[in-house]
Amino acid sequence: MPADLPDRLQHYVGGAHVDSTDGSTFAVLDPVSNETYLHAAAGKAADVDRAVAAARQAFEEGPWPQLLPRERSRVLHRVADIVESRDARLAELESFDSGLPITQALGQARRAAENFRFFADLVVAQTDDAFKVPGRQLNYVNRKPIGVAGLITPWNTPFMLESWKLGPALATGNTVVLKPAEFTPLSASLWAGIFEEAGLPSGVFNLVHGLGEEAGDALVKHPDVPLISFTGESRTGQLIFANAAPHLKGLSMELGGKSPAVVFADADLAAAIDATIFGVFSLNGERCTAGSRILVQREIYDEFVERYAARAQRVVVGPPHEPTTEVGALVHPEHYAKVMRYIELGRTEGRLVAGGGRPEGFPTGNYVAPTVFADVPADARIFQEEIFGPVVAITPFDTDKEALALANGVQYGLAAYVWTNDLRRAHTFAQALDVGMVWLNSNNVRDLRTPFGGVKASGLGHEGGYRSIDFYTHQQAVHVTLGEAHNPTFGKGH
Ligand code: NAD
Repeated sequence: MPADLPDRLQHYVGGAHVDSTDGSTFAVLDPVSNETYLHAAAGKAADVDRAVAAARQAFEEGPWPQLLPRERSRVLHRVADIVESRDARLAELESFDSGLPITQALGQARRAAENFRFFADLVVAQTDDAFKVPGRQLNYVNRKPIGVAGLITPWNTPFMLESWKLGPALATGNTVVLKPAEFTPLSASLWAGIFEEAGLPSGVFNLVHGLGEEAGDALVKHPDVPLISFTGESRTGQLIFANAAPHLKGLSMELGGKSPAVVFADADLAAAIDATIFGVFSLNGERCTAGSRILVQREIYDEFVERYAARAQRVVVGPPHEPTTEVGALVHPEHYAKVMRYIELGRTEGRLVAGGGRPEGFPTGNYVAPTVFADVPADARIFQEEIFGPVVAITPFDTDKEALALANGVQYGLAAYVWTNDLRRAHTFAQALDVGMVWLNSNNVRDLRTPFGGVKASGLGHEGGYRSIDFYTHQQAVHVTLGEAHNPTFGKGH
């Protein structure tokens, strides 16, 4: 257990740490013992009201929205410096709270710092459109922050995903209320100290812990929150979409996935196996872009399945804090039970070739052996539904056309991975995939300037690079006449 753990977490509102108005709390478990190690304040509508009021005041009266981009950028770079300097502690807490392997939690902490640095740089380099009709008209764009942004985040890589929203929301001059996931509130509670130390004015960042149906719901329905950026399950996204509709809020939604990795017979097989093992077993398989369906061309299918299963069996399951651990403990017993139900179902839908339940030597804790099902038909639930754990379905195909139909034949459309050495096939196939992001002969490595987002049930809108800036700002067009005013003249009679 990490040293100096708090035994309770409070909200952070207008620069002060506060309990819930009604004093209520919820229990937080660690995924190895599944015992309660702290209580967090359970926010309700009254707490969200207080946080939104603080954020609104900071937006309307505070200096933050009016600062020069360079001034905000300096604060954000300091945030990145602080996050970097504490990466080991952040990783330790995140790993303990979420069950992520410590080495991977460390990578995510560094990525969180990088997100701040990236948006700190981008907002200074930001240019806006100006158009001129010679002698007649000048048109330019005023870029303005929108107001209080509501940020609702999930429990997988929580700190990094929070940074992904906080960075652009703050860089553009908005004030925020963050509602982190209730399974993993620990690392989120570090933001308050980090922002204070970096010099963010009080009231700009506010945090309300609590359950989705209570605190999250109140934030979505709050009339003074014009923007909601949400990452989580597709079903929750639908609910939020409906609840935000009466207010016509701006919505950015990053939702679930069931991403295919398509391996053609001409692929570099060793590289494809490395990438597809990492693609579904890293981050405990609790990864929105996990390549959780592997489609393999018939000529190499048997060899692929055999080599893949052998590798999966050697993936190291272990305590999250051990540096050698490759798969840690799933976040929560409820999620563990869900993943285990899918594994049981998988035994009836496919051919189990690796894993299949609790690994030997781990009688307690939310441990799952990396599990591989082969010969999974396209109508199987383990082919169609997001499991969000270390479980993968492998399916054979014969032709490009069949591979495409299988790849696109699910409700999700977040990511896809394609392995082939045929240049023309790679690009043609990528274009035909109904997904937001494609990696060709690559594992999931993302340049922060590129668009991020899914299609179909995987999301709404794109963030990433200047697209995040667009989501968090209004673009007001100003039209100016040059020279004589060119007015139609109504009302002069005949
Ligand atoms: P979830 O939808 O259960 O919860 C996400 C957040 O929404 C939590 O903070 C939760 O408290 C809150 N919430 C729940 N109900 C709410 C409601 N009615 N109103 C407002 N807020 C509510 O998701 P999860 O289980 O925490 O996260 C896993 C899911 O997130 C997976 O489906 C995964 O694919 C997805 N995800 C997507 C991306 C992406 O970028 N596309 C990234 C990470 C995770």
